[in-house]
Amino acid sequence: MIDVGKYSAILDARLKELEALLQEVDAELDSHQSKDWEELAVEREGDEVLERRGTDAQAEIAKIRAAQARIDEGEFGYCVECGDEIAEERLKLVPFTPFCHTCAAKHD
Ligand SMILES: [Zn+2]
Repeated sequence: MIDVGKYSAILDARLKELEALLQEVDAELDSHQSKDWEELAVEREGDEVLERRGTDAQAEIAKIRAAQARIDEGEFGYCVECGDEIAEERLKLVPFTPFCHTCAAKHD
């Protein structure tokens, strides 16, 4: 039996972390708008890294929200594709995963 409460807490904590990260990224990108031309080339590179981190964070947030919706529906911990219980070992590594090991392998 899966300890849903435990994973719910893990997901909440991770979501807060990601939202804080997104705010940092946004603030950092905004602060670059008012810089001198000389610094711009260096910052362009930095901006790409920042934007990538922002995009990754947004993608993870979407997955976590979907996992939280499955918790609300009582479906958390079960594969959305085949309905099998997702192994605890797998949930520990990727708490928001919607797939069991077998189905995840098919999607990769
Ligand atoms: Zn499956």
